[in-house]
Amino acid sequence: MKVNGTLMNYYFHCKRQCWLHGNRINLEDNSEDVKIGKAIHEVKSEKNKETEISIDNIKIDKLTKEYLTEVKKSDADIESAKWQLLLYLKVLRDKGIERKGKLEFVEKNKSKSTIIIELDDEKLLKVEEITKAIENLLLQEYAPEVINEPKCKKCAYFEYCYI
Ligand code: SF4
Repeated sequence: MKVNGTLMNYYFHCKRQCWLHGNRINLEDNSEDVKIGKAIHEVKSEKNKETEISIDNIKIDKLTKEYLTEVKKSDADIESAKWQLLLYLKVLRDKGIERKGKLEFVEKNKSKSTIIIELDDEKLLKVEEITKAIENLLLQEYAPEVINEPKCKKCAYFEYCYI
């Protein structure tokens, strides 16, 4: 599987999750969190019909003259969202399109927060390194061990990993 935004996001969230998804063991449909995320994406997609685009293996929530925007339902894992967005910025740059990245968090009962991210040379190198690391991870015969962290309880793979 080609490294996409979901794999990049999962790599930072949990390497086991990345491996499972990359090896097509998908339990996302059972997860309330993923359903909420998809619902937000669908509402946003409806609103942004004219700006949403797909390039290669990525889907961009919104592209304006200045920003590529990615919408998230929570700011619980900013690092994962940040690297996902940086991958998107790289895919765009490879097509000759330069943009800044904007992360929008639309958490329930909270006001919307925004983070601006730019793809500089250092981050570009890092995205390339991580992409290689993900490719190598997916080639491993077995999934990495479970991580036993509180975030497991909200993960789509919880039952698969622990029950
Ligand atoms: S339940 Fe925990 S160990 Fe299993 S994939 Fe999810 S985050 Fe990783």
